[in-house]
Amino acid sequence: MPDERALKNPYKDYDGTQTLFDAQGNLTASFAGRITHKINDLLTAMEKGLKSADPRDCTGYTGWAGIALLYLHLHGVFGEPSYLQRALDYVSRSLSLTGRWITFLCGDAGPLAIAAVVYHRLQRNQEADECVNRLLQLHQSVVKGVGNLPDELLYGRVGYLYSLVFINQQFGQEKIPMQYIQQICDAVLASGESLAKRNRTQEQSPLMYEWYQEQYVGAAHGLAGIYYFLMQPGFVVGQERLTTLVKPSVDFVCQLKFPSGNYPPCVGDERDLLVHWCHGSPGVMYMLLQAYKVFGVKQYLEDASQCAEVLWQRGLLKKGYGLCHGAAGNAYGFLALFKVTREAKHLYRACMFADWCMNYGKHGCRTPDTPFSLFEGMAGTIYFLADLLQPMRSKFPAFEI
Ligand SMILES: [Zn+2]
Repeated sequence: MPDERALKNPYKDYDGTQTLFDAQGNLTASFAGRITHKINDLLTAMEKGLKSADPRDCTGYTGWAGIALLYLHLHGVFGEPSYLQRALDYVSRSLSLTGRWITFLCGDAGPLAIAAVVYHRLQRNQEADECVNRLLQLHQSVVKGVGNLPDELLYGRVGYLYSLVFINQQFGQEKIPMQYIQQICDAVLASGESLAKRNRTQEQSPLMYEWYQEQYVGAAHGLAGIYYFLMQPGFVVGQERLTTLVKPSVDFVCQLKFPSGNYPPCVGDERDLLVHWCHGSPGVMYMLLQAYKVFGVKQYLEDASQCAEVLWQRGLLKKGYGLCHGAAGNAYGFLALFKVTREAKHLYRACMFADWCMNYGKHGCRTPDTPFSLFEGMAGTIYFLADLLQPMRSKFPAFEI
């Protein structure tokens, strides 16, 4: 079946003869050099393009906070001080907070958390602490769910939760006590149980979540993204709740798998069309891999491997080279599987998708609304290319823990 949403993958699949990286997964100097060169080219193009970006968009998803996060990442990978300065410039622009949403990607938590980390790296500790305090001022309203707060990643509770985890990881200490994270997970569990009961679906899935009255499945708005967080060690208190509430709910998502190995965007949607991080197998993979790590059931890993096959066949999207619904975001799925299995095939496939991304703009793909942003545009592609230089440490930004 020809897929109108993806371009045909022109690359030969892995046959054991590749020469781009060694047995430990370290890229060869020439391939790494090519990537670094391309990163610099794309950064120049991005800076130029950003001059006409919407000055009011402060978000991580399409606005200034996302660009700041890119530079923070580049500073981490290359250790170049000017990148940290850039991160400071952009995050300063992002701090005109609106109070409308609370998440890392689409709300106030992102700019605050990224600013805290930038200040921390600059050893401006008082300013870092101020940002952390402002972030924590949102905590009670997130726990209580003020304003019918959803639970998903882009606008809901786990999107706020990510910012707390981000702070702790980047500070290298439990700057924010674990109880804060656990309180949010308690609220997410209570919300999911209550909806499952209300819908009388608790027999099939003890937890259920909606966003705009739809039961989304994928990483951005749906079940897989939420369960990925609930399965992180120590986030949900009590093994029993993990096995009686979370695991059967994960299994419910597993049952939604299409014959192709892909997953629907919503429960009940029969159309096997979308292979995006936001909707479909590229995002569901993270839930499956985490379930495999936590519960040790081989089937989860097999389902994740099947996701990777879907990605390889249908992952070079006409929507472009971005993270949310583009080739770079899909390539992170291969890296996630490589980190668990250490199989060269997966790293090879990520490298081929990187090659595709390095031919940015040459495939007739559509131009996104925000062509230079982190989640739709060029900044996300650069972020991925930099991550490929250190595959075992790579993480899908604003999501993967
Ligand atoms: Zn998307």
